Amino acid sequence: MPFRPEHIYQDLSDQLFAPCEATPVRAPQWIAFNDDLAEQLQIPQELWATDEGLQVFSGNQTPEWAAPAALAYAGHQFANFVPQLGDGRALLLTEVLDKNNQRFDIQLKGSGRTPYSRGGDGRSPIGPVIREYLVSEAMHKLYVPTTRALAAVATGEWVQRETAQPGAILTRVAKSHLRVGTAQYVLHLRDYKLLKRFAEYVIDRHYPELNNSEMPYLALLESVQNNQAKLIAKWMSLGFIHGVMNTDNMTLSGETIDYGPCAFMEAYEPATKFSFIDKRGRYAYQNQPAIGLWNIARFAETLLPLIHDDPDTAVTQATAIIEKFQGTYEACYWQEMSAKIGVSDINAAKPLLERYLNLMQAQQIDFTQAFRFLGDQTPERAQRLFENSDSWQLWFNDWQEATDNSQLHQVNPAYIPRNHLIEQAIQAATNDGDLTIFNRLQRMLAEPFTEREEFSDWFEPAQAEEKITQTFC
Ligand code: AMP
Ligand code: MG
Ligand code: MG
Repeated sequence: MPFRPEHIYQDLSDQLFAPCEATPVRAPQWIAFNDDLAEQLQIPQELWATDEGLQVFSGNQTPEWAAPAALAYAGHQFANFVPQLGDGRALLLTEVLDKNNQRFDIQLKGSGRTPYSRGGDGRSPIGPVIREYLVSEAMHKLYVPTTRALAAVATGEWVQRETAQPGAILTRVAKSHLRVGTAQYVLHLRDYKLLKRFAEYVIDRHYPELNNSEMPYLALLESVQNNQAKLIAKWMSLGFIHGVMNTDNMTLSGETIDYGPCAFMEAYEPATKFSFIDKRGRYAYQNQPAIGLWNIARFAETLLPLIHDDPDTAVTQATAIIEKFQGTYEACYWQEMSAKIGVSDINAAKPLLERYLNLMQAQQIDFTQAFRFLGDQTPERAQRLFENSDSWQLWFNDWQEATDNSQLHQVNPAYIPRNHLIEQAIQAATNDGDLTIFNRLQRMLAEPFTEREEFSDWFEPAQAEEKITQTFC
């Protein structure tokens, strides 16, 4: 089947984007190309890690199938509303219909200034590109809905941050780049007809089954809410901390987006946060569900004019939906967590999990290993992890009686993108242009559930001196 580019979002209104060309770069070089994803999207073979592809994915050449544009959006950043953010360093190249007739956006990130750049340079250092490539692809392999990475190229130019760093461009693929912040932007245009067309677009693109619904905009709110509840439950079940859950970084599709200061928790501690800019821990691990709800409430506000002509009725109806978030989230969370210990009766699983998490927290046990080792044939590794403590032994006996799944290695990953490993990959690429660690990490994370001897040196959590305590965008 052929490559099928389209540009239907741009038919909605020219108020929602700004046509914009990428700024050419001096000397592009390949960092990575994702064959599997290219195949799914039916990307023309002549672009697969070739010189021609390098021109396209560096932004040096605009192919005839692209209609590059920066998308407009608003957003609450750390709870402060900013009426215009938008793609300040990204360009939507095209939408494409994949092999299964599913629509995806293909976007360059780091491709130069746009009308929404404000003070920014529109560029990205290689570090964040490496992080997003590794973590987003790892999340996909961990069965977490996420944007993906199709390509990464070095620009051959320097980007000035605290220090000068080599520049790079990521090609990101998403079900769409529509965010809660996009809906907020549309609301603030104060054009009822456009708001309605926008909501209809979101329904057609992501929730077509709602087209027959009697109250499609309430149903849209509920669907977006349910997808976010599911997504955040998945994050929590892996110890993933997004780090910057602003409303512009929450998709309407339910995919994880924007891998900035994200990181994985090692020792279990609910208050964990890594992001340097998140001074008060607004986006700490344990706060993610509550922030998800807060963001959904902001989304609900954008739909109020569509939900009912009478504002009070609209609020009442939207509130009734939002009040279900917590219950939905908890059901998803306990389901994910029960699966991790292989106890299918959630009521039996819950107290066991609570006890286990308490043990993990008290003894500062690595979250990933604590679950991974439950799938072992013998209890040795789990025993050693908890230093054979009496309270662990009691728990373990109770758990063994309750568990009904002997295939837990298929549920609990052996490998996650541990922060210190990502950091090593970034340092080597930044300082020496060395992609060895990046490439090896990619191979390890491509099969996170399969333990392999060749990666035994990357199985353990960070040593004290390797620990990453802060992340930066
Ligand atoms: P983020 O923190 O990645 O969600 O980005 C927040 C906003 O800042 C978005 O509108 C970005 O496009 C913009 N932005 C981030 N970095 C840059 C940059 N280097 N140049 C221009 N705009 C940027
Ligand atoms: Mg963002
Ligand atoms: Mg970002």
